[in-house]
Amino acid sequence: MSFYDKYRVKTLRYLDNDLHGEELDAFRNHLETCGGCRASLEAELALSLLLRRSRPLYSAPDWLRSRVSALSGGDSRHKVAE
Ligand SMILES: [Zn+2]
Repeated sequence: MSFYDKYRVKTLRYLDNDLHGEELDAFRNHLETCGGCRASLEAELALSLLLRRSRPLYSAPDWLRSRVSALSGGDSRHKVAE
């Protein structure tokens, strides 16, 4: 599994509220530094809205959505946290 796929899986699990504790914290920290994952998460959020309109959008954090909106086409590559 590539590095990218690993984080894509985490993105999907995050959207399903399947990340907890340290793993959740680590993923959130990664999102802070990785425009690629934020873009990926935003894309999955949009898809989720289309596919599951009847379902509340879990804990989709406002801070993340506003950050993603502010980025608009920025860095689309992975960054490994320092
Ligand atoms: Zn990433």
